[in-house]
Amino acid sequence: MSNLRVAVVGAGPSGLYACEELLKTTDFEVHVDLYDALPTPYGLVRYGVAPDHQKIKSVTAVFEKIMRDPRIHFHGNVTVGQTELDWMRQAYHAVLFTVGAQRDRKLGVPGEDLEGSYSATDFVAWYNGHPDYKDRNFLLDQPRVAVVGVGNVAIDVARILLAGHERLSKTDIADHALEALKDCAVKEVHILARRGPLQAAFTNPELRELVEMEDVSFEIRSDELELDPFSRAAHQAEPDKAVAKRLELLAQASKRPGAEKRLVLRFLVSPLEIEGENRVEKLTLGRNQLNEKLSAQDTGEREQIEIGTIFRSIGYKGQPLADLPFDDSKGIIPNQGGRVVGQTGVYVAGWIKRGPSGVIGTNKPCAKESAQAILSDALGGRLKPPTRDVHEHLSGHHRVDFAGWKRLDDHEVNQGRDSGRPRIKVVERAAMLKHSSEEVATR
Ligand code: NAP
Repeated sequence: MSNLRVAVVGAGPSGLYACEELLKTTDFEVHVDLYDALPTPYGLVRYGVAPDHQKIKSVTAVFEKIMRDPRIHFHGNVTVGQTELDWMRQAYHAVLFTVGAQRDRKLGVPGEDLEGSYSATDFVAWYNGHPDYKDRNFLLDQPRVAVVGVGNVAIDVARILLAGHERLSKTDIADHALEALKDCAVKEVHILARRGPLQAAFTNPELRELVEMEDVSFEIRSDELELDPFSRAAHQAEPDKAVAKRLELLAQASKRPGAEKRLVLRFLVSPLEIEGENRVEKLTLGRNQLNEKLSAQDTGEREQIEIGTIFRSIGYKGQPLADLPFDDSKGIIPNQGGRVVGQTGVYVAGWIKRGPSGVIGTNKPCAKESAQAILSDALGGRLKPPTRDVHEHLSGHHRVDFAGWKRLDDHEVNQGRDSGRPRIKVVERAAMLKHSSEEVATR
């Protein structure tokens, strides 16, 4: 049986689901090198999924099983840029990029760069202990915060801001974030949707969790809950059970008298300007109405709210990679079913293939399609055989292999055990490397 050497770049859900699919082949003896820029695998499961969502994180058991297969070789702490791609093209039959979407979108309004105006994705990476974000500071010294956008990331950010120390102290939130949030002054979070309740991007379990939070009064204005004529017509023409449930949940949400904190969900408003002397102090909102295409249109009506901090949570965005083609408007690498357009032996899966949407499981069929494209191209003789040995290029890197990751993993879990937490994350890259190395483990 001939062998098939594949490099998978990005050890998040898509990368691992692609590995799982590649391992199923009986046509080849497959060898997969799985790279990640971080010393840890699991991508957004570790650095994106909220720390109080441990059940979602339990998918790592499935990923760990995949990584234990002797045909998979993990190389953590290796960044793949142009140089690496050049040698990867020569060292593998195929290179699959599953690098996700690492940038965030900007609002493009005046005042967006003031201190106190942040990207929600940076905040998420910070509270989840991503080593590149551990030194970020977020001003949380004023009672009122705005979160722009109504996707699940916005819901996560609002929930983490209002959760309170007791709930967070049972999670694997980074210690620096646990400390900072303990002393934070935030009492009121305003989530701002530019369109109506029918168009909200969050999902029902996440909404329910927010509605049911203890000590938090969940508030919506009744006039904003009412569907506009175009949305009503769209809902009647194509009734959707999940949407109907969402509208029901929203209608049931009511003020909780005596609650210490407030969550205010606003619809049909867009931030137009962020103002402040040296930091965020005020936000001007424009009222919207929807047109027949269900897009938001400014009505000219204005409103101001005093805020101390604003998070834009309006979606992740992919970034260009080495000399590969890039579609900047969609933030993806153009591809056909995972095959990168105009390239031989280069593939994509996950958010860099289809854009930043869907839950973890959505990546499974997406990665399967790309892995099958690799296998079918290999069977069809369309891939160039490797001409170079990968080891000559890797020797200079301080790599973390699977055993190294497990040493770090065990260390974190052991540290958490005494305080009843799932783990205490190591957030310094140098310390991560230290704990993953054998010398530390045997000490
Ligand atoms: P998202 O679901 O795409 O939501 C983005 C939100 O930003 C939408 O409400 C969108 O509104 C709004 N928006 C975009 N541009 C805007 C602008 N210029 N002004 C105002 N609002 C704007 O993105 P996300 O929340 O980053 O989540 C990414 C993916 O991860 C999603 O598939 C999500 O479900 C998933 N995720 C899942 C979980 C979970 O399962 N618990 C947790 C976190 C993330 P419009 O609709 O009007 O464009």
